[in-house]
Amino acid sequence: MKILVLGSAAGGGFPQWNCNCRNCRGVRDGSIRARPRTQSSIAVSADSINWVLINASPDILTQIRSLPQLHPRRRPRDARFRGVILVDSQIDHTTGLLMLREGEPLKIYSTANVREDLATANPILRVLESYCGVEWRPVPIEPGRGFDIEDVDDLHFTALPVAGKAPPYSPHRESPEPGDNIALVITDRRSGKSAFYAPGLAEVDDRIAAAMSRADCVLVDGTFWTDDEMIRQSVGRKRAAEIGHLAQSGSDGMLAHLARLENPRKVLIHINNTNPILDEDSAERRAVAEAGIEVAFDGMEIDLV
Ligand SMILES: [Zn+2]
Ligand SMILES: [Zn+2]
Repeated sequence: MKILVLGSAAGGGFPQWNCNCRNCRGVRDGSIRARPRTQSSIAVSADSINWVLINASPDILTQIRSLPQLHPRRRPRDARFRGVILVDSQIDHTTGLLMLREGEPLKIYSTANVREDLATANPILRVLESYCGVEWRPVPIEPGRGFDIEDVDDLHFTALPVAGKAPPYSPHRESPEPGDNIALVITDRRSGKSAFYAPGLAEVDDRIAAAMSRADCVLVDGTFWTDDEMIRQSVGRKRAAEIGHLAQSGSDGMLAHLARLENPRKVLIHINNTNPILDEDSAERRAVAEAGIEVAFDGMEIDLV
């Protein structure tokens, strides 16, 4: 299985258009060593021909343009995605769907909760009905149930409901329900290799820790280094936990959870522009590298064979 990182930043991207934090300023003026990053999305494929898109960021056109793996090649109109899986209904993970309106009906896989948000509060699916059309497919969240993507026979997907946060416009924002946010386990039926993907993960409970330990590669929430990062840098008022993200540092942070995993390759993804790990010369970035953890970048390709 191949995993292709289309965008490795959290919502807003890096640098963020209106942000003057140390990282955003530094990457603009070259005073820090850091790579710009687009908003969060990956694609997976078993054969490098047919891809499954996981989340569609508003940067999707730029991402496709810069990734030859996703260019049309076989027919006059040639979408390389056989389906799109959405892990939640956040703007940075869904509004790219509007940019894919020129082709065949989009096959969109999501939980019923996400579909409801995208048909009402953020009515992307209704808008798309007037263009390419949408064929929606349910993503089951009951334990032990997985799902497949049509025409992608070699990959199998399992969704795990995770603690997170529905978007501000969702009726579930303050009354979370299972299915507002999911993590995905992606398994290649031929090789048996699997990846765990969770760009938003507020908590690592035993069930999530077990799923992570079984995977060959985990790509997990790398949004914030500290819980109060945005407050400390005067760019926001919310703590990481309030918006559905577990910080990396601290005794119960993401790094502590990753340290307990022996098997998988470990990758942080969905990185907010304020996170010091974006500065390749920072102490925090060094700590991550010394722990054997990688920091995802746009265009990163992971080959699980
Ligand atoms: Zn996001
Ligand atoms: Zn910034």
